[in-house]
Amino acid sequence: MTASNPSPETLLDRQCEQRSEAGYLATVLGTASHRVVLFHRGQALMNGSGLGYFDPAVLPAAPNTGTINVYLGRVRAGLSGALPEGTDIVLRVLPYDAGDLAWVPGGAEFSGYRDVAAGLDAFDTQVFVEAQAVANWHGTHTHCPRCGSPTESLCAGWMRRCEQDGSEHFPRTDPAAIVAIVGADGRILLANNFAWDENRYSTVAGFVEAGESGEQAAVREIAEEVGVHLHSLSYVGSQAWPFPRSLMLGFIGYTDDTEATPDNVEVRSARWFGREELQAAVLDGGAVIPGRLSIARELLEHWYGGRLLEPGDVAASEEAAKKHELVQRGESA
Ligand SMILES: [Zn+2]
Repeated sequence: MTASNPSPETLLDRQCEQRSEAGYLATVLGTASHRVVLFHRGQALMNGSGLGYFDPAVLPAAPNTGTINVYLGRVRAGLSGALPEGTDIVLRVLPYDAGDLAWVPGGAEFSGYRDVAAGLDAFDTQVFVEAQAVANWHGTHTHCPRCGSPTESLCAGWMRRCEQDGSEHFPRTDPAAIVAIVGADGRILLANNFAWDENRYSTVAGFVEAGESGEQAAVREIAEEVGVHLHSLSYVGSQAWPFPRSLMLGFIGYTDDTEATPDNVEVRSARWFGREELQAAVLDGGAVIPGRLSIARELLEHWYGGRLLEPGDVAASEEAAKKHELVQRGESA
């Protein structure tokens, strides 16, 4: 397995019990040592190619009403190159109409996760995804689903409460199943969606419906989208994906079917690949596969048994590739 995702290692301690105490967030905001991640209109303020962790002393006071502060967590030992252990990180979500942003520190720009994800390290990725998910939730839960009255942010930004009926609302996570389909001969079935270029292939995914298990959703989605029946599944791991608030449950699914039938709605085509065939297709441009740090890639490499090389990898280091091949042979021997 590669080390990227899914990893059980948490890089931030969310202080879940402490953050619910009255005054916890105010105390953190009163320290000079905390750092602020800024969000505005679904984008984060970057610092070069990394996520910006701003010293509150260089930021103006929160601009006006409508700003939401959320406690994201405390940096665990030795896990961030940029921040010392024990640093508290607070998300500041600026109101949609935040006015003049001329105070933004020089050179910093607001960017969306999809635009910068490939260049983020594991620490920034985790903080960005957490910040994005909770910011999205605040943005769509300003009013009570029961009575329509305004809600207020409490528990350091991890709960909203209706000002009228007192009902409490928490950030939601929507599970989705994502499956790498493996046939009886060991080949993998990958799908090409209408939304993509015709040489792009990936695993198949879909949301879990009410009352359904992750496994049932996986079997149903695969039958619907590529027309094969999975007789068994093994769970590999999960990944949070903040658009808008998904949790991808990754499976390897096994089928005895050899014919795939794309649904012609989402899936344009589906194609079987052997291991060497897929690696060769990726290197010669015949197949473009999901990027590293995605759970789709993790599932592919789980099936493959090692790191799938891309053209850039080979050009960058023929020697490393050869060394890797030797290691892989050793592993499979
Ligand atoms: Zn209400």
